[in-house]
Amino acid sequence: MSALILRNPATEAVVAELPHATVEDMDAAIVRAAAAGDAWRTVSPADRNRLLRRFADTVAAHADELAELETRNMGMPIGSSRWCANAVADTLHYFAGAVEKHAGSTIPVAGGVDMTFHEPLGVVGLITPWNFPMLIASWKLGPALAAGNTVVLKPAEITPLTSIRLGELALEAGLPEGVLNVVVGPGSTVGWRLVEHPLVRKVAFTGSTVVGKRLMQGCADQVKRLTLELGGKSANIVFADADLEKAAAAAPGAVFDNSGQDCCSRSRVLVQRSVFDEFLEKFVAAAAAWKVGDPMDTATAMGPLVTADHLARVLAYSRDLQPVFTGEVPDGPGYWHPVMIAVADDMSPVACREEIFGPVAMVIPFDDEADAVRICNDSEYGLSGSVWTRDGARALRVVRAMEAGTISVNSNSSVRYATPFGGFKQSGLGREHSMHVLDHYTELKNVFISTE
Ligand code: ADP
Repeated sequence: MSALILRNPATEAVVAELPHATVEDMDAAIVRAAAAGDAWRTVSPADRNRLLRRFADTVAAHADELAELETRNMGMPIGSSRWCANAVADTLHYFAGAVEKHAGSTIPVAGGVDMTFHEPLGVVGLITPWNFPMLIASWKLGPALAAGNTVVLKPAEITPLTSIRLGELALEAGLPEGVLNVVVGPGSTVGWRLVEHPLVRKVAFTGSTVVGKRLMQGCADQVKRLTLELGGKSANIVFADADLEKAAAAAPGAVFDNSGQDCCSRSRVLVQRSVFDEFLEKFVAAAAAWKVGDPMDTATAMGPLVTADHLARVLAYSRDLQPVFTGEVPDGPGYWHPVMIAVADDMSPVACREEIFGPVAMVIPFDDEADAVRICNDSEYGLSGSVWTRDGARALRVVRAMEAGTISVNSNSSVRYATPFGGFKQSGLGREHSMHVLDHYTELKNVFISTE
């Protein structure tokens, strides 16, 4: 059994050393989840609601501990980690409340009564990434468990610590054994078993588009249910009539948050030509004030990248750029990459096309509304995006024309548990959050009863 050594990305100190699960361990967890299925699906809705709320409250009571663990494991600033830990609790509460509200319907038909049921799928495999480990786990745990499924959670092998802790807290809160299983191991072997194993009825994945495509091919064999939340190259569109102060103040957060390791990162900043220089100057000034450093310091806006390997991947993009602004990074150990702003005439540079997943903003000019929409949609991705304008009709015209699933106007907002989140094109398949996601964790069964 190989061991996994996890390092604090800000200090390179060893945070934990833990064994990798094997494929046999994964198989055992899947069997355990299947065995717990009958008991969980027959827990009364009110009791399932209560148990999930107790899980949520237990998470909230351990929010500081979870936040610190996340920050030491993946380098996210502690303020963001605390926000995430509380958002995990809120997400679990939302889906606890949904247990008794995701109702079927009766349909008028001749000769009898017709009704629908939302049946649990059975065992669901949750495969999560390293950028928001506990938060993204909760996006899948909440609806999967609320709908009556049992789960096997396979966190990213480099950031498993908060997911392991969530598993412990679930038991502490009284979730029956076997309902929530956590298995830590490499994706291509241990994670892949969730695709191969016939007892797993659905895979819910967040990660890279490359792996998402592989999972889609793998799931085809068993027509296994699959939802995918993949990459992005989202646009932050700033029109000349926008509140430029506000748009520029928000622009660093839109792209540099979580060191740009965010699938919703607005890494293409599209600016109307008539205000291009004025906006760029304000954007650079706001980025210069962006505090990069010790992620345990509550004043820090941005920490390091997650690993040395990921730093090398981001540098492979950024070293060929001629940035108009490059920020400072701390001396000493850690996987630091400065915030960087570069200008491109159009979409041709590779840094405008590919997801860098680092703190690099590409600023591109546009002429008019049609030009902005054309550049925005000239991407294989379509996850999120923002539009900044004071003209309400323009905002509506542009958001309707954007090929993206999650859009905000005069804001960076992306993900809220009560509203649907997901991507167009190669950014994904299906939606997370809101009551809509429950359809992805249930089968719709139709029953006709004759009254004749
Ligand atoms: P990133 O590029 O952001 O590291 P990945 O898509 O490689 O993201 O990984 C996201 C998650 O998918 C992780 O939990 C990883 O272990 C898992 N994973 C990677 N490859 C596979 C695979 N072939 N089968 C199943 N899971 C995988």
